[in-house]
Amino acid sequence: MRDINQIIVHCSATPPSMIVGADDIRKWHITRGWSDIGYHYVIRRNGVTEAGRDIEKAGAHAKGHNEDSIGICLIGGIDEVGKPDDNYTLLQYNELLRLINFLKITFPIKLLKGHRDLPGVTKACPCFDVDAWYKFETQLTF
Ligand SMILES: [Zn+2]
Repeated sequence: MRDINQIIVHCSATPPSMIVGADDIRKWHITRGWSDIGYHYVIRRNGVTEAGRDIEKAGAHAKGHNEDSIGICLIGGIDEVGKPDDNYTLLQYNELLRLINFLKITFPIKLLKGHRDLPGVTKACPCFDVDAWYKFETQLTF
């Protein structure tokens, strides 16, 4: 098993009206020439988590941080005209919290980051402050 010590949260950069999931993202990523979907988990608009890439394999979601991380993708993150937008459903937020807490007791996770919080990243992904959200929800810090 590889060393896993951080969780990185992403978005699919799709508008709320677009109902997609892990199978769709897998197709998009394979079209790019990747071997599989880049994320380990996808949280759909209805709050259902779908498995992406095998957790034992490094993902392809955050350059320079794939070897030791788990990538979670929330479906949504842009508005209908393509601007970054924190538009996730309450079901998605609740599921994200459950999934993070599950992973935290399963792996020695030391860091929780939004994609945009990584050094050198200029994207808005996942379009909300993951650190502040987690602290607010749990009163805990990583
Ligand atoms: Zn991302």
